[in-house]
Amino acid sequence: MRRPLVAGNWKMNGDTESTISLVKGITDGRAEVTNAEVLICPPYILIPRAADALNGRDDISLGAQDLDINQNGAFTGQISASMLVDAGCKYVIVGHSERRAIYGESDQDVADKFKVAQQGGLTPVLCVGETLEERESGETEAVVARQIQAVIDVVGINQLDDAVIAYEPVWAIGTGKTATPEMAQEVHRFIRAMLAALNGDIAEKLRILYGGSMNAGNAESLIRMTDIDGGLIGGASLQAESFLAICMAAN
Ligand code: PEP
Repeated sequence: MRRPLVAGNWKMNGDTESTISLVKGITDGRAEVTNAEVLICPPYILIPRAADALNGRDDISLGAQDLDINQNGAFTGQISASMLVDAGCKYVIVGHSERRAIYGESDQDVADKFKVAQQGGLTPVLCVGETLEERESGETEAVVARQIQAVIDVVGINQLDDAVIAYEPVWAIGTGKTATPEMAQEVHRFIRAMLAALNGDIAEKLRILYGGSMNAGNAESLIRMTDIDGGLIGGASLQAESFLAICMAAN
C-alpha cells in the first residue's frame, strides 16, 4: 500500500511572518491527518524559518523547490544538495514546469539534478507533464515518457525506488483548470505501466502525485483514483485551511 503524500510548493511566496503563521496553522491541524505524509517546500531563504517554526517536529517534512548540480564553489546564486540537507530538507522538487519553461531546463538538466539530489541524500520529486498544445496534438504520453526516460537513462530504473513523480499537466498549473480524475488517472496509469515494464516492484511502490489546480473541492475525487497517490499543490498550499483539507482528502 502506498502512503499518500501531499506536498506544498510555495513557489516564490511568503516572508518570515507568513511562514511562521502557515507552519503553525499546518502543525495545529496535522494530528487529524493520521495517514498521509505532509511535505512543505518553501523558498530557499524561508526553509530555516520553517524549520525553526516546526521546532523539531518530524511529522511535517521539508523540501526545496530546486537545487544546483554542483556541490559547492564558484556558482553565484546557487544552492547545493548538501546545503538543503543541512537546512533540514528531505525532499527536493526537480523539473517543475516553471523551471523548464522559464529557466530553460532541459530533460538532461532535470535528470542531472535528480541524480545529484539522490547522491546528496535527498528524495527527488520529479515533475513531468505536457503543455496544452502537446495534449491537443495527442502527444501527452510521448512527452511524459520522454521526460521520465531521460532520468532513467542517467540514473537507471532502480533509482526510482527512492523518488516521487508528480504528473502536472502544464495547462492546469495555476490556471484553475484541473484535469478530470479520469484524465489524470489515464496518465498516471500510463506512467506506472511504463515503469512496470522495467521493474514491477518499483512501479508498484512509487508514489505518483497529481498537480495542477488541486484544491479542497477537487482533491478527493482526484486522489480517489487508483494510481493517484497524493498531490503537489501550489496556490492552495499557501493557506493552512485549504492545504489541510487536501491532506485530509488524501488521508
Ligand atoms: C504547482 O506549481 O506545482 C502547482 C500544482 O500549482 P497550482 O496548484 O497552483 O496549480
